[in-house]
Amino acid sequence: MIYLYVVEKEVDIMENKKELDKYLFIVSKDRPLSLEKHAWMKKNFEYVPYTDEDGESCMELETYKAYTALIMVMKKKYHLDVDSHSAWRSIATQEKVYKEMAEKYGEDWAKSHVAIPGTSEHHTGLAFDLRFKPSIVPESLRERAKQIIKKTGMQSKIFALIEKEAVKFGLIKRYDSSKEEITGVKGEAWHFRYVGVEHAKKMYESGMCLEEYVRELELKQKENKTTRVA
Ligand SMILES: [Zn+2]
Repeated sequence: MIYLYVVEKEVDIMENKKELDKYLFIVSKDRPLSLEKHAWMKKNFEYVPYTDEDGESCMELETYKAYTALIMVMKKKYHLDVDSHSAWRSIATQEKVYKEMAEKYGEDWAKSHVAIPGTSEHHTGLAFDLRFKPSIVPESLRERAKQIIKKTGMQSKIFALIEKEAVKFGLIKRYDSSKEEITGVKGEAWHFRYVGVEHAKKMYESGMCLEEYVRELELKQKENKTTRVA
């Protein structure tokens, strides 16, 4: 199966990005990766090697800087060890993950819980999944502490805290459960995406998800153009 799509609309999107902001593009079910977008990413972004539990990977440079700044702050201010267990993922890897999940839980489950290869934001190197462990708790008790955190609902509170700090470095929680209909993805408190500080702050304050925010900017841009012509 070929997972690289050529979407006609894509060319327009790329043209828009020149004026909008290069970090404000969307990879989703509705906007899968195209050959054009692939080439455009390679030309416009710098990628740095990065290793996590899954092995060697990479991250876009500004995303990596924001990620490291965030984990340092979480450690210093809250004694939380935060790290990523999934950053850039190739289309082939996503295909493998999808297949494994479909075999384990069935095709329907996989469809609603795992991004179809070519539609995952992890293909961009601008997104990663975070996890945390309380570093003040001795190593031997950490697993137990994690269970308690999960059971008592503290997990979502901690992710909300991470989100609040992440915004200061240009990172947004990409998939809020309240925006499922717009993003097409179930709530994922752990999935973060780099968009730049200014945009992240505006999105956080307004409660808009990336799709809504980009749509609004595009509308404003259109209005400005019309005003200029008039
Ligand atoms: Zn993710």
